[in-house]
Amino acid sequence: MIELLLTDRCTSCGTCASVCPANVFDEPPDVPPVIARQADCQTCFLCELHCEADALYVGPDWEKPAPVSPETVRGLLGEFRRHAGWHEWEGAFPNEHWRMDEVFRRARE
Ligand code: SF4
Ligand code: SF4
Repeated sequence: MIELLLTDRCTSCGTCASVCPANVFDEPPDVPPVIARQADCQTCFLCELHCEADALYVGPDWEKPAPVSPETVRGLLGEFRRHAGWHEWEGAFPNEHWRMDEVFRRARE
C-alpha cells in the first residue's frame, strides 16, 4: 500500500497521479500530489516505478496501512525501480520484483 510521498524530493510532475489505476492521489495545482485515498491503493507499485524523483514509497502490505517514516525508508527510495530494471536502470539490474514476494505469497494462500 502506498505509504509516503516525500514532498522534499517531489518535482510535482504529476506522473504518479496519471499512472495510478485507483485514483489514489489528488493533484492540487503547482504543488506535489496528495495521497488522498490510501485505502483504495492496489499495491501495484506503478507510481513508484514511474517516479523518476524517487519520492514515493509503496509497502508490500496491500490489506492495511503499515506506516513508515521518511527516515526509515530513505535507503529504500528508488530501490524498487532499480531492482525492476526500470527506465534508466534498464540493463543495469535484472528484473527482480523482490518486494512483490509477500504480495504473491499471500495471494496464493
Ligand atoms: S511521480 Fe514522483 S516526482 Fe512526480 S509528482 Fe509523483 S511523487 Fe512527485
Ligand atoms: S501502488 Fe498502484 S494503486 Fe497504489 S497509489 Fe501507487 S499506482 Fe496507485
